[in-house]
Amino acid sequence: MKNIKPREVPAELKLLRMLHPRMRMKPPDYQRYLNLEQGYAGELIMDAWLEDLSIDCLVINDVLLEQNRNLFQIDTLVIFQEKISVLDAKHNDGDFYIDGDKWKASSGTEIQDPLLQRKRSMTLLRKLLQSHRINIPIESFLVFTHPEFYLYNDSPQLPAVFPTQMPRFLKKMNSQTSRLGQKHEKIAEQLLALHKDENPRTRLPEYDYDGLKKGVVCSGCHSFMQYRRKTWFCSGCGMAEDNETVVMRSVAEYRLLFPDRKITTNAIYDWCGLSASTRNINRILAKNFYRIGHGIASYYSNRSKDQA
Ligand SMILES: [Zn+2]
Repeated sequence: MKNIKPREVPAELKLLRMLHPRMRMKPPDYQRYLNLEQGYAGELIMDAWLEDLSIDCLVINDVLLEQNRNLFQIDTLVIFQEKISVLDAKHNDGDFYIDGDKWKASSGTEIQDPLLQRKRSMTLLRKLLQSHRINIPIESFLVFTHPEFYLYNDSPQLPAVFPTQMPRFLKKMNSQTSRLGQKHEKIAEQLLALHKDENPRTRLPEYDYDGLKKGVVCSGCHSFMQYRRKTWFCSGCGMAEDNETVVMRSVAEYRLLFPDRKITTNAIYDWCGLSASTRNINRILAKNFYRIGHGIASYYSNRSKDQA
């Protein structure tokens, strides 16, 4: 197995993780944030399972494709010799049942039908492959990743893999003959080239600098940290970090959340919620960023020195 596009934290989730400790999110935004966290957790579990794929195949994670102005997202795509398998992670927890063509939680609340979503992506993917003259059969599965998920009346025909079935599913995948060649490399290249980067900012909650809580957020548990004797401490998880690590992480957040604001010593000082001497921050910024201008009007380039 060769993973040619490893999974990263989705850009939108990255931003929401930064905003969440600093603002009060309204229910729809908060719900979206939780859904993204849940989806990502499921994808990571699926990735760990797929590590056991031992035969010749190419794995591409997180592709956003477009067919006829319709965007569709695929969690994982595996290219084998004779086929492409599309795997979609579902991290729902609790008891569910299928009522006619509707999926419902045990409370009776209808949830988004994962089969319908799967059908849509498959149709679009087939058309997209056809239009690029990529001729290879595709199959797709919903991969349920939560250990506490249960579906009552599922039929054996359901294109789904449940946690207890995963070992057998992988065994079956590993037992096929698969020898990849140039044709498969080319398919992978074409798919990677078709991948679109979505603008993560389109769905973010509204926020502005003044409205966000200032301070340094722990990278482990997202609590605010305290500065004592040149070290930052988190009372949430006990993490201790040195000043430079913390300042650089805070600058990275500041750059992502406010790409139009200038990086100045005072700005970063304020962002970190500090009230002592600015010397340390000045030194860290000067070490890591290019300085533009002199004196009180100077600021630091958005390009850090390690990007040069
Ligand atoms: Zn912490």
